[in-house]
Amino acid sequence: MRIPLIAGNWKMFKTKADASAFAEEFKSLYKDTDVQAAICAPFTDLDVLVEAFRGTGIGVGAQNVHFADEGAYTGEISVAMLEEIGVDFCIVGHSERRQYFAETDETVNLKLKKLLAGTIRPIMCVGESLEQRDAGALFDVVRTQLTDGLAGIPAEDVRRVVIAYEPIWAIGTGRTATPEQAEEMCAFIRQVLIELYDEDTADEMILQYGGSVKPANATEIMNMDEIDGALVGGASLKPADLMAIIDF
Ligand code: 13P
Repeated sequence: MRIPLIAGNWKMFKTKADASAFAEEFKSLYKDTDVQAAICAPFTDLDVLVEAFRGTGIGVGAQNVHFADEGAYTGEISVAMLEEIGVDFCIVGHSERRQYFAETDETVNLKLKKLLAGTIRPIMCVGESLEQRDAGALFDVVRTQLTDGLAGIPAEDVRRVVIAYEPIWAIGTGRTATPEQAEEMCAFIRQVLIELYDEDTADEMILQYGGSVKPANATEIMNMDEIDGALVGGASLKPADLMAIIDF
């Protein structure tokens, strides 16, 4: 049985004081559901959130990591540094990192391998641009991201990878993919996972949809068969909205 994962992605929002205020309000609203809840926050907020959510079941995630153990990589953060804080998840390959920070399928692959050697569960983002969708290349794009991003990762490790389908044209635009479009791609992703691995492995893996998820559309998205969760940007900045999505 797949336990759904609904994770907020705060992106570059919220200072430590903001994070602390959010956590207090969110804990007061939070009720245990059948969903695993998590918040992926800026590095500087992680310690605050891990402390605030201790014992609640609410997970904490980072939004990026470097693939080297350590070294002369100014401005970067290692897996060991995140593990020391007690982080549960780490987003890898978000389209904003691919677009603005030169993330490639190759660096995504290196980061996934480094995370999987430790305790943190990766949330690997894939998704096509509007031009790619309009050109009919959406399935090829996502297939390549999966094949190259997961290259050399064995089945027993890949089970811990969460795949987030985030069509770029639906991120922060208010233009959500229809539940059918999201379901179609998640079904395709599961099919590619069967080809790359096997049916049992693909069946266990959590597939999220991300892109303008909000309380008003969470139910229809979460009710789709192949969608096991959501990666929520803007709406995760408000405790009540995030809780409403988790309690869809
Ligand atoms: P929005 O929910 O703001 O569209 O962002 C989606 C996203 O990029 C989550 O990672």
